[in-house]
Amino acid sequence: MSYKKLYLNPGKEESLKRFHPWVFSGAIHHAEGRPEEGEIVEIYDSRKNFLATGHCQIGSIAVRVLSFKQEEINEDFWKKRFETAWTLRRNLGLNKPHNNTFRLIHGEGDNMPGLIADIYGKTVVMQAHSPGMHLARFELASALKEIMGNSIENIYYKSESTLPFKAGLEAENGYLTGGQNVSGIALENGLQFKVDWEKGQKTGFFIDQRDNRSLLEKYAEGRNVLNMFCYTGGFSCYALRGGAKKVHSVDSSSKAVDLTNENVALNFPDETRHQAFAEDAFKYLEKTDASAYDLIILDPPAFAKHRKVLKNALQGYRKLNMIAIEKIRPGGIIFTFSCSQVVTKEDFRLAVFSAAAQTGRNVKILHQLTQQADHPINIYHPESEYIKGLVLRVE
Ligand code: SAH
Repeated sequence: MSYKKLYLNPGKEESLKRFHPWVFSGAIHHAEGRPEEGEIVEIYDSRKNFLATGHCQIGSIAVRVLSFKQEEINEDFWKKRFETAWTLRRNLGLNKPHNNTFRLIHGEGDNMPGLIADIYGKTVVMQAHSPGMHLARFELASALKEIMGNSIENIYYKSESTLPFKAGLEAENGYLTGGQNVSGIALENGLQFKVDWEKGQKTGFFIDQRDNRSLLEKYAEGRNVLNMFCYTGGFSCYALRGGAKKVHSVDSSSKAVDLTNENVALNFPDETRHQAFAEDAFKYLEKTDASAYDLIILDPPAFAKHRKVLKNALQGYRKLNMIAIEKIRPGGIIFTFSCSQVVTKEDFRLAVFSAAAQTGRNVKILHQLTQQADHPINIYHPESEYIKGLVLRVE
């Protein structure tokens, strides 16, 4: 084992000493040899003390740390990481016949920066977010197969759009293992969802709302529900099972509306309580009659992908929540979320507070929600926390 070495500027080792897994390009003094994009490198402080081993890349994050030890990064290394992650998911009671959909690898949260792996029954959808993970894809697939054995049959690799431009061009989407007789039906708490990992957003389904959808189910009985930004209709199906009087699903994408209708039909054949509309959420809410709904879900896409647009994003959250709070029937419940990584819990709460204050209505927080345990947050990497949610009661 001999990896190329990167040396940091004096004092720039602090964040690595606190186990934060990123090295920014400005922290690097010089490299020995010329590491290529995606190559494994060792990082040293300015006094030549070893700090960490990681994947290097061109960009503001110059290294993603894989280990704080001096060790070889090979198939055995990946196996250990997968084993740890798989044991955690089994400890969480996932991978059950009624619940075969979960996240196995959540990047930094599972000490595998740059990698996402979602499980849909016998299929793993693996996504690289760094050139290093892309280069390691075959080794990763082989390690994964070995650790999960018969629990999986197919590994679909989907990284064309998640990698930096050049690497993305080489990252053809497709099966690395299996690919025959693949079932595209995922089970979440006994509900069935058609998942199209080849064409759908992210890995095909938003796995990260399972527990929050379960909570919604408990609030649904007898209510008129509006599921905004419905995508595949996750919240809508839980609301129907929970005994909602009616459920309206809205998404600006007609494909999403079709998927929602398909998933409702899959679980509730001949259902008459549900209707879906392809419309802009803001316009839909604005024209909605006050008191048409008494349970509203707001789960928009990330309004801010970068810190630069944070202010606009917060205004977006404020406006959206303001209209919902203003319109909802007295005694109504709002499940409101932000999945923007750059928006903190405090920012989001402030945006919802401002929204409430604008309406002057009596608003209580019933629950403060976050991402579930198969999306673990690395304590040294606060950026792995991204979902924030509030359940509000509006009198
Ligand atoms: N709540 C969903 C995930 C939402 S993803 C779930 O549980 O699976 C965000 C969705 O918002 C996408 O499907 C996207 O098409 C939709 N969207 C984006 N902008 C929108 C807008 N202005 N109005 C309505 N829908 C929008």
